[in-house]
Amino acid sequence: MTAAGGVRTVREPARETQILMDADIVVVGGGTTGPFAAIAAARRGRRVVLIERFGSLGGNLTLGLNTKPSGALVGGLPLEIWNLARSHGGAGEDYMAVSKTGGVKIASPCDPEMMKVLLTRLCVDAGVQILFETYVSGPVLEDGAVIGVIVESKVGRRFIGAEVVIDCSADADIAAQAGAPFVMGSGGEEPVMQPVSMYFTMKRVDIPRLADWARTNNDIPARAIPDDPKELDYGLWLTGFNTMLTRFQEETGTRLQRNNITLKTADGVMYVNATRVPGVDVFFPVAFTGAIVECYRQIEAVARFLREQVPGFENARIAQIAPVLGVRETRHIEGEYTLTGPDAIEGRFFEDSIAADSSALDIHEPKGTDVDFRGLRPYEIPYRCLLPLKVEQLLVAGRCISADHVAHARSRNMPACMATGQAAGVAAALAVEQGRRVRDVPIAAIQEILRELGMPLHSNQIN
Ligand SMILES: Cc1cc2nc3c(=O)[nH]c(=O)nc-3n(C[C@H](O)[C@H](O)[C@H](O)COP(=O)(O)OP(=O)(O)OC[C@H]3O[C@@H](n4cnc5c(N)ncnc54)[C@H](O)[C@@H]3O)c2cc1C
Repeated sequence: MTAAGGVRTVREPARETQILMDADIVVVGGGTTGPFAAIAAARRGRRVVLIERFGSLGGNLTLGLNTKPSGALVGGLPLEIWNLARSHGGAGEDYMAVSKTGGVKIASPCDPEMMKVLLTRLCVDAGVQILFETYVSGPVLEDGAVIGVIVESKVGRRFIGAEVVIDCSADADIAAQAGAPFVMGSGGEEPVMQPVSMYFTMKRVDIPRLADWARTNNDIPARAIPDDPKELDYGLWLTGFNTMLTRFQEETGTRLQRNNITLKTADGVMYVNATRVPGVDVFFPVAFTGAIVECYRQIEAVARFLREQVPGFENARIAQIAPVLGVRETRHIEGEYTLTGPDAIEGRFFEDSIAADSSALDIHEPKGTDVDFRGLRPYEIPYRCLLPLKVEQLLVAGRCISADHVAHARSRNMPACMATGQAAGVAAALAVEQGRRVRDVPIAAIQEILRELGMPLHSNQIN
């Protein structure tokens, strides 16, 4: 054991690592983004391996109990999968959430269990080799280009070779280890990041009674409440409870970190987004664990508030707590272009756009207790945001693309993550087909395929 610069270290013996398999394209992370990258590449006939550390696909969308893309799914694979979910009863109709600041288009939430099944089925049908319960511990590089990844599983440590790696780990784990520059949160000396949260669900909620009460309650300023009771299973969305929460905390001495609660239904189950832990260093296991412990405390308190104060919840019980902590923001890679707040808010045109996106702007105050959730005109995401500086044969998709803190408040939403995954899959497949570096794939070729997939590329192509 040695101690250098105050950090204690231990030397591990060097070893030869067995090669598990070779692929054209390795996708790291089978969450909200990764399956879209994998399916898009595999449908073009490439050998694709999708590596996921947990035992199911969907990440924050399914395991995180998130379920609801904030913004319409405007085309391509994301829309295809949502329509498939609808045809299986796994999603409802899209709706408009109305608040004092206007309306936000929301794709219907999905049933996360159905979504796990469909994502897996589509990957398998496309020929993707999924590796579940397999952790990617780092990239291997040769002459500045990624040539594969090291994975850890029950069988031990192995190597998987690849022509192109797509980092969909959400935290840009592979890009960072490969030496690609990145910015944490807002950047600067003391970066701030959006807080972490943990979703939970409640059973035995009288949803029609809740909807009737919410319809006329001033403490629910943002809402979507369908007139047709049959649409309540997927169509109820409520944000507010601020005054009631303040009173509850004063009267009971309970301490909460967030001044509001968002409720939504999916397949008749009530999803609750109400917890918050600010300032967590999610790359430090002790701090990460502390945040989960704190979320559990808040979940008990919020469930008690709902049961005691909100009509419809009188007999409700906690049904499920998300098995993963919901992390909103960590690393943003520094790409060939960094999407800025004004780009995303004003919907600026980009020649190399790979997706027009209508995600809401969704900023949870890094230090405060409020949420800024707004519908805005569509914006565009350039291909260059997926291309990290300094490392070859690596693409990044999902919430860690090259975007600043404000632009990320739109691009972290699931419609944008899915769209960047789809584009990265197409670009990687083209790079392999054409024997080019991902950086050199002609943008016109990527865009042509995305158009064929039904993806609008410019904001004037969607309303
Ligand atoms: C509490 C909360 C509420 C939100 N609400 C909304 C909302 O209402 N609407 C909306 O559109 N967006 C919402 N978001 C944002 C959105 O859900 C996420 O930004 C998005 O899902 C991120 O997608 P991703 O694929 O980048 O990451 P993830 O979905 O987290 O996927 C990353 C995957 O990579 C895997 N992985 C990571 N590292 C490794 C590794 N080294 N080896 C193998 N596998 C690995 C993970 O297990 C995971 O499956 C919310 C986020 C949070 C946290």
